[in-house]
Amino acid sequence: MGMNRRAFVMGLAACPVCAGLARAESGPHWTYEGRDGVKEWGRLSSEFRACAVGSEQSPVDLRDAIKADIGDLTVEWRPEAYKIVNNGHTIQADVGVKCGATLGGRAFTLKQFHFHTPSEHALDGARTEMEAHFVHADPQGQLMVVGMFMKPGAGHKEFAAIMAAAPRKEGAATLPAPIDPAAFLPQSRERFRYEGSLTTPPCSETVDWNIFAEPIEVAAEDIAAFKALFPMNARPLQAANRRFILKN
Ligand SMILES: [Zn+2]
Repeated sequence: MGMNRRAFVMGLAACPVCAGLARAESGPHWTYEGRDGVKEWGRLSSEFRACAVGSEQSPVDLRDAIKADIGDLTVEWRPEAYKIVNNGHTIQADVGVKCGATLGGRAFTLKQFHFHTPSEHALDGARTEMEAHFVHADPQGQLMVVGMFMKPGAGHKEFAAIMAAAPRKEGAATLPAPIDPAAFLPQSRERFRYEGSLTTPPCSETVDWNIFAEPIEVAAEDIAAFKALFPMNARPLQAANRRFILKN
């Protein structure tokens, strides 16, 4: 364990909302495929039980959505020279500058954002190449994640900067200059909202999901750079069960 790893763990411990994630990191080993893969998560630890027995799990296929008043989402994210962490499961930008979002009048603080390939959610059964998750929390620890589908296309300066800095092995690096996280927002405000879970162990059912319908474009070479580190880090689709998928 080098200095980077130690600084990373201490940083998480200093953030109350991230404490659960820190415990998960030091807890049972888990992967997407193989012996400790997605089908086994619920058996790896009693803390991971929700992964196996939960009824409001994520991700889901965003289909048969019901038009509804899903509350206004306003983001107040600020540019920052993020610490970029390879945590063994994804590339994550840790947020140090206090900023956040309001959803239906409730205030949330932005904690971190990270990426999956392929996308975890699907739109009418179809996944895209990648998905970004902006993880927010309120003072009670309720989570609100803003998600965007990502597809190959025009270059995306901010995602390119993150992939250029991303450590190839577990560890952390700091961006050489600030980037604006708002660059990850699509033009269209068309959005899905539903109640779900973390898509990684411990799969806690505490997440208010808000996913934009319009994919954003990033360079194919930056998707390839991500896949070189994490060829597949998406949980399979989970049953919607009794939940409604809402859209604005
Ligand atoms: Zn995620």
